[in-house]
Amino acid sequence: MDNIENVELIVVGGGPAGLSAALAASDYGIKVVLAEEREFLGGQLIKQTHRFFGSEKEYAGTRGIDILKRLIEDVKNREDIKILASSRVLGIYEDNVVTILNNNKMKKYIPQAIILATGASEKFLAFENNDLPGVFGAGAVQTLMNVYGVLPAKKILMVGSGNIGLIVSYQLLQAGVSVAAVIEAAPKIGGYSVHASKLKRLGIPILTSHTIKKAVGNKKVEGAIICELDNNWQEIKDTEEFIECDAICLSVGLTPLIDLLKQRKVKTVYVSELGGYIPLRDENMETSIMNLFVAGDVSGIEEATAAMIEGQISGLTVAKRINKNQKEEIQRKIEEAKKELVLLRSGPVGEKIRKGLSKIGLNHGENYDESILKEEFDISYLMKTGVPSKENLESKFPKDKKIFDKGPIAISECFQKFPCDPCVKSCPFNAISENGNINNIPYVDFEKCTGCRICVSKCPGLAMFVVHKNYTETSSLITMPYEFLPRPKKGELVNVYDRDGKIICEGKVIKILDSSFQDKTAAVSVEVPKEHFLEARNFKVRYLKHE
Ligand code: SF4
Ligand code: SF4
Repeated sequence: MDNIENVELIVVGGGPAGLSAALAASDYGIKVVLAEEREFLGGQLIKQTHRFFGSEKEYAGTRGIDILKRLIEDVKNREDIKILASSRVLGIYEDNVVTILNNNKMKKYIPQAIILATGASEKFLAFENNDLPGVFGAGAVQTLMNVYGVLPAKKILMVGSGNIGLIVSYQLLQAGVSVAAVIEAAPKIGGYSVHASKLKRLGIPILTSHTIKKAVGNKKVEGAIICELDNNWQEIKDTEEFIECDAICLSVGLTPLIDLLKQRKVKTVYVSELGGYIPLRDENMETSIMNLFVAGDVSGIEEATAAMIEGQISGLTVAKRINKNQKEEIQRKIEEAKKELVLLRSGPVGEKIRKGLSKIGLNHGENYDESILKEEFDISYLMKTGVPSKENLESKFPKDKKIFDKGPIAISECFQKFPCDPCVKSCPFNAISENGNINNIPYVDFEKCTGCRICVSKCPGLAMFVVHKNYTETSSLITMPYEFLPRPKKGELVNVYDRDGKIICEGKVIKILDSSFQDKTAAVSVEVPKEHFLEARNFKVRYLKHE
């Protein structure tokens, strides 16, 4: 056939899953055509200015935008990867022809294998006036702010407390936008507790069991009516409240973009835990159509780290099938990647994913260590409010309070089990341990800790603090992570806040660690009256409003 190019692999989608898939396949000499609809690569990573959780191997502690830079640089250096930007895949047909519209020209390919990494779209919410200008999806808000440098509003109401809702709220605050509140219909916060705690320390209300009833305004959003929900998700009478804001941001979930899969008649099934209709696929990410693979959110909604590993698995599987040599080595790498995924999903926060996968016959990690599956503490109060309970805190403070007298020590305020270890890896004195499993809660060995402050900047959850109780006879020195601009100056007086975001005292900035090593998370040491050494966990420079 004329004008039809035979290729080894077409990867559709240049996000974290697609880039990882292309790289993994090209590692073994597979020639890849990488088609991306937009003019630039990166998918959602392009707006992720926060640091990622997970293990070092999967870029933990690195900001999404920096992960992206590394992936793109790697992809661009590969001769085996041909990048087709601004290229929309129009069809995947039964005769295996793939049509791609590239710069207004139609190209046709016959690939030996296809990996679809088309990602997901945002869900919307039904409420009165939801078509008013000023009602945004979280993805749009992030794109405006982090890609185009445009502020979406002055004061925003965030609807949804999953990781995206919490992270975007924090990024809005960093950009100088006020966040009126984060509301959540479920009785508990959906995202990681450390993200919620960051917001609480900044004084942002997180209202669980609340929903939006109505956007208020004539030509644009001028406010919102919210109300409380009972245990059956029904509105509680007379709980309506007006929230003043000029934008409403919806972060109520994602749904896989499966249009191309449907067109190719891939078998799909509805799995609510994974975001809606997903393709049936096996452990190697192969769908019901042979040599048609998926990776990332199109296969079920999960975190970017999982998407990258799934990309590796699909890319390696294609390589193993096409490549005549190195089959054993490739298989070993596939098994390693699968183990990583199992580990990632093996804690309590992976329960939803495991349940969803079991519905399509993938019993991920049947042999889990039972102790990893359950939370170590009762974190119900923390997950309702974003503030750790007294019991939670006591479990992480030294049992013998005299240890506070020995000098500066690190306090880890991380109470939820999820796969993350930059704190452990960052400590040069091996003073932080997770007891052999990345999902476990980190504990500080106060005997080994020197109070060096390295971990304060390295924790992506901003959950590490260094407390020097006896800085002077009457004062303590608390070192806290700080990610706002402008930075405070040495000697400056600041307002000091507790974990609930309440102002408790005045503090004086004594030291600031803010070099390239801190990677934009400064470690700022603030002197406070000694009676506040257990409560002081945030500060604000006086001329800057965060709420
Ligand atoms: S303060 Fe230094 S020594 Fe202590 S836990 Fe953190 S990194 Fe380790
Ligand atoms: S304390 Fe450790 S495990 Fe918790 S968020 Fe920070 S780096 Fe991750």
